[in-house]
Amino acid sequence: MDDLSTKIQATRDRIRRAAERAGRDPQSVRLVAATKYVEAPRVLDAIRVGLTICGENRWQEARAKMQAVGERGDVEWHFIGRLQRRKLKWLVGRFNLIHSVESLEQAEEIQRRAHERHTSQAILLEVNVGGEESKGGFPPDALPSAVSQIDTFPSVCVQGLMTVPPWNPDPEVTRPYFQRLKQLAELISGLPLQRVRMRELSMGMSNDFEVAVEEGATLVRVGTALFGPRREPAP
Ligand SMILES: *Cc1c(COP(=O)(O)O)cnc(C)c1O
Repeated sequence: MDDLSTKIQATRDRIRRAAERAGRDPQSVRLVAATKYVEAPRVLDAIRVGLTICGENRWQEARAKMQAVGERGDVEWHFIGRLQRRKLKWLVGRFNLIHSVESLEQAEEIQRRAHERHTSQAILLEVNVGGEESKGGFPPDALPSAVSQIDTFPSVCVQGLMTVPPWNPDPEVTRPYFQRLKQLAELISGLPLQRVRMRELSMGMSNDFEVAVEEGATLVRVGTALFGPRREPAP
């Protein structure tokens, strides 16, 4: 518990120093704890020592933790994992923000489900900045036209962009991908859109979140630096 408290504090300090180096307001960056494979009691401990945003990758796992934590106004749930079309009905209306919308079809399905539930869903659009075959996400070139269409969906609120760049142990190698995401957000901000906002950039993980903050991240998704290495539990 103390260990968790120390790690959360140390991570927040590193975020603050990175923001200051870049001349940014440290308050403009929020820590999303990537809580996949972390058991509910440990998530509760983390909340007790100040964690405010849980980022989950799977609905089944998230649901159990949401039940354990209960309704509370000081905790947000974000969905950061790969989306499956048939699972979207469970997610819409239950997550404050879905980071990982990777196609127009997914946005359409979210629109349909949100309308059904008489709610509106905040989302980010995931961009495949590295053009990797193994990863989902909008190709950068496809983004402006997709965003213009999603802008007309009344129950979907695009809040910004998200990316998972190609993995590299050296965060300096990753830096240009973060710059690219920021440039794309600026480009979209210049388009004549009604409802789409580019207020969030979700980028940076344990290995590279400081560089991401230097390049404009407003949401960093950090797992290992808070909870240590974890593995998928055996089924
Ligand atoms: C697990 C995960 C993270 C956190 O990764 P760490 O390297 O453990 O900090 C961030 N984003 C996504 C989408 C993840 O699945």
